[in-house]
Amino acid sequence: MIIGHLPSGYILARHLPPLPLVMGAAILGGVFPDFDMIWFYLVDDRAVHHHRYWVHIPAFWSTVCAVTMPLIYTFARQLFLPAVTFFVAVMMHCVLDTVAGGILWHWPFSNEFTHFMTIPSRYDNWIWNFVLHPVFGLELLIWGWALWLWKNR
Ligand SMILES: [Zn+2]
Repeated sequence: MIIGHLPSGYILARHLPPLPLVMGAAILGGVFPDFDMIWFYLVDDRAVHHHRYWVHIPAFWSTVCAVTMPLIYTFARQLFLPAVTFFVAVMMHCVLDTVAGGILWHWPFSNEFTHFMTIPSRYDNWIWNFVLHPVFGLELLIWGWALWLWKNR
């Protein structure tokens, strides 16, 4: 998924109570795993697929969630719903990346990516392979849904 993560966070937040921080947590969680692109391009020189970094691995987030949520619930209960929203949005990011990009859903038991479909490599620049594939319509649908929600808020 290339452009659908940000509006997916917005859609998530629009289906939750309009409490402080929920919208921001949903949008941040929706895009947060892709902040690894900074490391991918500027430090790692694209040596490892960025979906192998910890921010794209569901087992990592499940562990972080299992450790932090009881603490947040106990010591900062006002942040509980935003924190849950953040983790749900991160998992939505992983699900959306599973459509065509591949996610390590079975890590640490397997290092194989799980993906719903493989995008054929037809163009030199990888982004055209995604943008000109019918699956990009899903991203446009997500944007359309988010814009419809925004217009009817
Ligand atoms: Zn991603």
